[in-house]
Amino acid sequence: MPEHCTQYRTEHPAEHQVLNPATEEVIATVPATAPHEVDAAVARALRAQEHWARLPAADRARQLRRFAVVIDEHLEELAWLEVREAGHPIVNARWETGHARDLFDYAAGGAERLNGDQIPVPGGLDVTIHEPLGVIGVIVPWNFPMPIAAWAAAPALAAGNAVLLKPAETTPLTALRLAELALQAGIPEGLLQVLPGAGPVTGGALVDHPHIAKIVFTGSTAVGKQVMAGCATQVKRITLELGGKSPNIVFADADIEKAAKAAPMSFLDNTGQDCCARSRILVHRSIHDKFLELLEPHIEAITVGDPADPATYMGPLISAAQRERVRSYVPEDAPAAIRGSAPEGKGFWYPATVLAGVAEDAPVVTEEIFGPVAVVLPFDDEEDAVRLANATRYGLAGSLWTRDIGRAIRVARAVTAGNLSVNSHNAMRYWTPFGGFGESGLGRELGPGALTSFTEIKNVFISAEDSHA
Ligand code: NAD
Repeated sequence: MPEHCTQYRTEHPAEHQVLNPATEEVIATVPATAPHEVDAAVARALRAQEHWARLPAADRARQLRRFAVVIDEHLEELAWLEVREAGHPIVNARWETGHARDLFDYAAGGAERLNGDQIPVPGGLDVTIHEPLGVIGVIVPWNFPMPIAAWAAAPALAAGNAVLLKPAETTPLTALRLAELALQAGIPEGLLQVLPGAGPVTGGALVDHPHIAKIVFTGSTAVGKQVMAGCATQVKRITLELGGKSPNIVFADADIEKAAKAAPMSFLDNTGQDCCARSRILVHRSIHDKFLELLEPHIEAITVGDPADPATYMGPLISAAQRERVRSYVPEDAPAAIRGSAPEGKGFWYPATVLAGVAEDAPVVTEEIFGPVAVVLPFDDEEDAVRLANATRYGLAGSLWTRDIGRAIRVARAVTAGNLSVNSHNAMRYWTPFGGFGESGLGRELGPGALTSFTEIKNVFISAEDSHA
């Protein structure tokens, strides 16, 4: 065992079973990557990266575009894999696969536009260059396995790095298939490797490895803090995409019917297993009851069931453990204002649930549940709405509904979160930067600046003095 591997020497499983969360059937058994195998993967990645970084940007871009085409040619296969391992409805899974394809396409263009600056200085020419970091460790959660893998892998590769990707124990299959497709598309061997395994073992080995230049971690805030502490020992670069408890603020002057119709998708998409879930619905006191009345039929209309059915809106939770976690926040006597339905029998099902009349400091209000549960809280005025919205250690996303443009601007500026939307819940697009304030994370992914976070800026001064004089 290498010297640098110190903190995760507990036993590690040799393999992981992958379950279909809708049926509880074992659909695959995947070998876990031991720390010495991580070392070998890093060595391969270093060799591949050296060559990749020297390629002209246009060549890297061309290869990544080809990879996007190959993903598109396998869209159905990848989407059905996501349905089986993550329980995502097929319609969502197709969108997620298309999103991964688009990320590689978008990042490819970024490789060709990774411009530095030319800075006016006396005595010569000063330019900045974006140098690739080297080998990037990408640690991914189970809630959106394919999109989140691509969020980091696509810009990291485009900027001239190699990527070692550790998927979540429950959802390694799409990542493994993507790595095969990368080879098929001509991406050089060793450049994108997938290392399934237990978090503290395989993930810990990536964090500790001295030849991994940066970690991109997406997952819970608790584990993110450990990863950050591990990276600190080597001043390793890090991006953290962590938890959230985002507000959906509905003012009395809003189009209340539209806000009520849109609210379910803002916290039930992916069965609430969404870091951006607007799970705190803050409603002006004067429209509180009316809003609940309008919301109820939209929650009841949600189709929950077989993810393979294109009519299904909400599938199961990822695991029995996740269902227990969700249940622990909603005891039998919880003040449920609205409850949807869920199938009985096999599968990790949980109904859409809206709670009202809950204390502001109750755990269901303050903690990330990561399930189809929202709370509705009343507020008195704009100031009170902002106070409630910001009464959280998180700061990932948020929405506000109002017809008053001045209020929209004031509140959007006052809410301490990274991704806000007005009269919409759609704040996450690959063209725009994404990330959290506070304990929701560190750094930004996506958007025009995505590649630069996988580079170091080098400043070069070239003297204009006559060297023969
Ligand atoms: P998690 O923190 O349990 O695990 C995330 C990943 O880290 C997994 O691959 C896991 O194996 C690995 N891991 C676990 N322990 C580790 C360790 N000690 N060292 C290194 N790696 C380790 O999170 P999860 O339950 O898989 O995902 C849910 C969480 O992810 C939620 O909190 C959610 O909000 C967050 N999330 C955030 C974003 C975002 O962009 N901000 C996006 C999706 C999910």
